[in-house]
Amino acid sequence: MNPNISWTLDKKIETTIENLKNNHINAKAIANLEQLHNEIKQLIHPGQTVSVGGSMTLFETGVIDLLKEGDYNYLDRYQEGLKPADMREIYLQSFAADAYFTSSNALTMEGHLYNIDGNGNRVAAMIYGPKKVIVIVGKNKLVKDLEAAETRLKHYAAPANAKRLHLKTPCAAVGFCQDCSSPDRICSNYVTIKKQRDYSRMHVFILKEDYGF
Ligand code: SF4
Repeated sequence: MNPNISWTLDKKIETTIENLKNNHINAKAIANLEQLHNEIKQLIHPGQTVSVGGSMTLFETGVIDLLKEGDYNYLDRYQEGLKPADMREIYLQSFAADAYFTSSNALTMEGHLYNIDGNGNRVAAMIYGPKKVIVIVGKNKLVKDLEAAETRLKHYAAPANAKRLHLKTPCAAVGFCQDCSSPDRICSNYVTIKKQRDYSRMHVFILKEDYGF
């Protein structure tokens, strides 16, 4: 990365971390995946129950493998052959997990997490239930404010996810939001997390690379 661009990114991340901390959300800039995995191992312990929200970032950063191969009680929503009733059971068990891992569709420099969710299970677990919520965010998710977050989601993240999941939504055909009423609509819930009451619950790790979308 060009050093001047890298500097602007560092300054944005610094501001974001400061504002997250003001909102009672722990936050840290992460230099590489090795550091990320070490930070995670400090937060969770062998035998604990861990779960994940749907996320490309968690696959791309090796977090899924870390949880799967570690000595944890991993609630594996990606195992083959799961029926809808099994998925529902995993979603419900996730509320009682020791730690819940997810990314965020957008992270604002004001220290707010902005997410869309079709089922709502991921945003519900981010809001309430798991004792710890660990959010892993690539630099591509960082935006100035909530207005920019909504634009990012409607015209980039949601269409890309709809395409990935082979959904029959207008955005999966044209590449940007049509505010549809499709049965496959993935943006049923728009959720902004602005603050935590429990200072020790939420941890945001910000990577200086792009992950997910
Ligand atoms: S509202 Fe519909 S068209 Fe817009 S991003 Fe969501 S699924 Fe796509």
